[in-house]
Amino acid sequence: ARIVDPGVAPDERHFEAALRPRRLAEFPGQPRVSEQLGLVLAAAKRRGTTPDHVLLSGPPGLGKTSLAMIIAAELEQPIRITSGPAIQHAGDLAAILSSLAEGEVLFLDEIHRMARAAEEMLYLAMEDFRVDVIVGKGPGATAIPLELPPFTVVGATTRAGLLPAPLRDRFGFTGHLDFYTPEDLAAILHRSAGLLGVDATRQGIAEIAGRSRGTPRIANRLLRRVRDYAQIHGSEVVDQPSAMAALKLFDVDEKGLDRLDRGVLETLCKRFGGGPVGLTTLAVAVGEEPDTVETVAEPYLVREGYLLRTPRGRAATAQAWAHLGLTPPKDAGT
Ligand code: ADP
Repeated sequence: ARIVDPGVAPDERHFEAALRPRRLAEFPGQPRVSEQLGLVLAAAKRRGTTPDHVLLSGPPGLGKTSLAMIIAAELEQPIRITSGPAIQHAGDLAAILSSLAEGEVLFLDEIHRMARAAEEMLYLAMEDFRVDVIVGKGPGATAIPLELPPFTVVGATTRAGLLPAPLRDRFGFTGHLDFYTPEDLAAILHRSAGLLGVDATRQGIAEIAGRSRGTPRIANRLLRRVRDYAQIHGSEVVDQPSAMAALKLFDVDEKGLDRLDRGVLETLCKRFGGGPVGLTTLAVAVGEEPDTVETVAEPYLVREGYLLRTPRGRAATAQAWAHLGLTPPKDAGT
């Protein structure tokens, strides 16, 4: 796995759990969502009711799971955690719904990947706090309505647009998480360093924050590698020299690009004059699958303005040429 992969690696789950902020007040960044959510939760608590169901959307690693847990903590309610792919049949969902306690928070990660039949059951449950349990099979089957105590669904998805409109409409509050600023990432890293018991300088933290692709999960992962490096090679302090040396060793450059990202840009510039060139041709030249180039490398390169997807293929921007320290040919279009 890439060190800059925004997804969670199986062996880092316990770190993630240890580094999660517990309350809204200690959740840096996302000021809009944080303030809006704070209001929704405080008002529900004051009224003594459950809040509206909450949908959290945004790329992986930005804090959706953390916020779901914070919502439960702020409401002083237990949380049940499951995910769309784990709900393959309506019965899976019925079993969960019928065992929820009053006021409980149900966190549905990757909610867009839930089975269709379960989705329909969920609308009804969210709206009326009721499920129809089907008893029997075939023509003799009957639906027995089952009342549920009120509860709160927190759904998470990487793209709210992937949800069918009727499901999306059942969420009274939607929070869209954005990539973090380097300053917010620095605040997160500072807190993480404290929790890990590592000494870190402001410059060391800033160096890591700048290479973390706006993503707290990546920031925390890079911090652990820099800590390793500092413990073995240096003064045990996460400072700028140890951050720079460690991240060079792990191939993450000063803009957060890794070997694959730079491979794509270098191939595009050096072999194809900056493009445009078709995805498959580019991928073969890089020595990767087209799918890997498209889904793993390109999103960040496009987002950061290094690469353009044009109808005629992929093209490098002036910023890509500059980042690689190369001079674009005179007729380069971008
Ligand atoms: P998602 O569910 O969006 O993939 P997570 O909530 O699992 O993201 O967050 C991934 C990691 O990043 C966790 O270890 C979490 O502690 C950390 N993290 C995310 N957002 C923040 C934040 N605002 N402050 C501190 N840590 C954060």
